[in-house]
Amino acid sequence: MRDLTTRSRMLLLVTVLSALVIAYNLKLTNGADAKPMRIDTVAESVTPPNLLLAKWEGPYGGVPPFDRVKVADFKPALEAGMAENLADVGRIAKDPAPPTFENTIAAMERAGQALDRVQTIYGVFGSTMNGPDFQVVQREMAPRLAAFNDQITQNTELFKRIETVYKSPEKAKLNPEQQRLTWLYYTNFVRAGARLGPGAKARLSEINQKLAGLYTKFSQNVLAEEDGQTIVLKSEGAWVISNTRSSVDPFLTYSSNRELREKAWRMFINRGDNGDEHDNNATITEILQLRAERAKLLGYPTHAHWRLENAMAKTPENAMELMMQVWKPAVARVHEEVADMQALADKEGAKIKIEPWDYRYYAEKVRTARYDLDQNEVKQYLQLEKLREGIFWVAGELFNFNFTPATNVPVVHPDVRVWEVTDKTTKRHIGLWYFDPYARAGKRSGAWMNAYRSQERVDGEITTIVSNNANFVKGKPGEPLLISWDDALTMFHEFGHALHGLNSNVTYPSLSGTAVSRDYVEFPSQLLEHWLSTPEVLQRFAVHYQTGKPIPQSLVERIKRAATFNQGFITVEYLSAALVDMKLHLAGDKKIDADAFEKATLAELGMPDEIVMRHRTPQFLHVFASDGYSAGYYSYLWSDVLTADAYGAFVEAGGPYDHKVAERLRKYIFSVGNTVDPAEAYRSFRGRDPRTEALMKKRGFSGTEAKTAAGQ
Ligand SMILES: [Zn+2]
Repeated sequence: MRDLTTRSRMLLLVTVLSALVIAYNLKLTNGADAKPMRIDTVAESVTPPNLLLAKWEGPYGGVPPFDRVKVADFKPALEAGMAENLADVGRIAKDPAPPTFENTIAAMERAGQALDRVQTIYGVFGSTMNGPDFQVVQREMAPRLAAFNDQITQNTELFKRIETVYKSPEKAKLNPEQQRLTWLYYTNFVRAGARLGPGAKARLSEINQKLAGLYTKFSQNVLAEEDGQTIVLKSEGAWVISNTRSSVDPFLTYSSNRELREKAWRMFINRGDNGDEHDNNATITEILQLRAERAKLLGYPTHAHWRLENAMAKTPENAMELMMQVWKPAVARVHEEVADMQALADKEGAKIKIEPWDYRYYAEKVRTARYDLDQNEVKQYLQLEKLREGIFWVAGELFNFNFTPATNVPVVHPDVRVWEVTDKTTKRHIGLWYFDPYARAGKRSGAWMNAYRSQERVDGEITTIVSNNANFVKGKPGEPLLISWDDALTMFHEFGHALHGLNSNVTYPSLSGTAVSRDYVEFPSQLLEHWLSTPEVLQRFAVHYQTGKPIPQSLVERIKRAATFNQGFITVEYLSAALVDMKLHLAGDKKIDADAFEKATLAELGMPDEIVMRHRTPQFLHVFASDGYSAGYYSYLWSDVLTADAYGAFVEAGGPYDHKVAERLRKYIFSVGNTVDPAEAYRSFRGRDPRTEALMKKRGFSGTEAKTAAGQ
């Protein structure tokens, strides 16, 4: 059901080097209201929830009232929004007129707008303003929202109307976007169980509600482990390593204290796996069994088959084939990387065998020794605000966008800034871009994009509102904030998602912007990462924070030479997690012990001893915090095939700023949302199907050229 309405998604970056991201649907319902309900009839003793339900007011077609939200308002507003949406859907289902595209499919696109608005703000609070009060609301509302979704997809009269429109000869007379939307509704309803009998439907809804509760439990456990555990470095004053990636990874990279490295590593990889009240193993077993049962009910062999059916990969076999094609050379590369690190450690007289807690530390030493590349040297040229100007400039070159600060727009926190996006030539208003760059309590880690409002024109032009979010540690006032090369890539990545939303040019909100299939959505974002290292960007925007001088060419050359360095580690760390995810969901209804399954699967794959999965099963939020990326973590690799291959189109033409290729990119990829089948869209852009060669080359896994680049 989460795929029913992919209108708004939060695309979330969890790792940096290879820019792997999770995306999941934030909102579960279609929205719109011909007749907004009288809100004051719904309110209980708290503040009337009309603020959250009401049409957004202010400039730019209205903006979210972030400055006036109270956590206590969410529950009554969600309840009122759901009631209104169900009333809308009921009217559509019971319409005495024969079903047509307009009175059924388009009407569904208009239904539930108030709930859509509430859920947007609810999602922003969940990810950036989360606290104990909010978590209570989440625990209560997650199963109820799941049940609400089932009430829509299990509405027999509604499904009959959708099916009639879908199977009617009249469908051929609709325009292509309308035909695709009709197909999407029909398919999503069928996939959500619309054709099942009453008994099966009831069980399905029970499963969905149980799963929603278990997902909330799983993610709150991981958060508790991340918040609750630390290592204090007594010898170095007040330093504390918190149990999060942004704290642990730099420590593992730079600390020479091997004992503490091991301690930090163990703390981090055992999140959710400590046999205490936050242990996730039993929850995982239950989730996997419920998912397997649901897949069977819906007529699929496994959860993986169900999930992949409407993805670009289509079958688990296709996804597995790509993963295994990359897995073997990646493992071989890891053995080379380990040998290099072992040689360096031996030369230093360290008298150790490389262990997982040594990998980042020695990899950094090899990088410095072999490429004369010190990350701290690079950082001095990477100022957050300069790079922000850089991404604006790139958007201007590729898509003719202009960015102007938008004042008087309410924000959820004073750190958030807003820009208006317009067309450089026509001055037409395109949308708003919110930027929330700094870490704070109650904000989830990582980086992500979120759409607050999708572009559409069902009843007149609605422009989009998108946001980019990150977790940079705020610098001192007046001092430029310096970020790493990987963080700079992340900025370009998330901005790629934002541009996917901003370029959207469709009619129906369910097909807008980033509402595309999961293994396609990372393509535009990963593609944009390529523009960071273009000479145009580096010359203008990678300037030294003190001297203002552009990054020296010799340093750029060293960065380029080191581009495929450590790709064995990056790829194996990611792919092992993707493979375990897929195999867990191909295992059927066996009662699975997560730890034992993980161990056996990795042994069978020949996982190098020196690396651990990027997300071990008991902390794998992509897979167990929602249906999200379950049987879908492979998507980053799938999208990266397209990314690497698509950048080739620029290289083969006039370079990264070739206007003709950029125009094709806009026309066939960035503007079409989900109005076109992704494989077809890609073919229109590239003139052929994607090939994997470019990916293998990008990661340094093909041919002698790449091997030399990565060192012996
Ligand atoms: Zn992404």
